[in-house]
Amino acid sequence: MVRVAVALVNELTPGERRGRPYAPPPDLAGVTTGGMRAVYPSQRDVTEAEARELAGVAERLREVFTAAADGDIDTAAVRVNALLEETRARPMLERHDGEPWHLHFHGPGGTMAGDWAASCATGLAVVLGSEFHDRLGVCTAPHCDRVYVDVSRNGTRRFCSTACQNRVKTAAFRARGRAE
Ligand SMILES: [Zn+2]
Repeated sequence: MVRVAVALVNELTPGERRGRPYAPPPDLAGVTTGGMRAVYPSQRDVTEAEARELAGVAERLREVFTAAADGDIDTAAVRVNALLEETRARPMLERHDGEPWHLHFHGPGGTMAGDWAASCATGLAVVLGSEFHDRLGVCTAPHCDRVYVDVSRNGTRRFCSTACQNRVKTAAFRARGRAE
């Protein structure tokens, strides 16, 4: 669920990505489907209307990552609580499509976007309420504001991707070269 939150924020919120300005592409449904399928391969095609609704959710989710990355866990918690309340996230064990029993989180409307909003809010709440509350981050590379969840053992992740990590490494290497 947290990985879906990451995918939604990174695909659907404008800003900067890996050194370049980023805006969600016109094919919002396609990019949303692709991002979610990277996490849940069985995700069905997202409609244009659902993608627009999820883009609104993604803006709210980004605020949580931003606050957490700034070390402002209080604000992150307030934002997550607001989302939990609005989506009225409700846990329910379900079994379908040959899968074992697993937990779903539903919003009141029974819409796909509403259910995912409830799921993402719950996932972030679980992280923020645990010893891993400092694991939500925003990329620290220049001109990148994509988000990540740090699942490394040491919790030392600082970048959204190896692409950004390499950009920063290369820049540092060049700077050293100039200094010598
Ligand atoms: Zn990055």
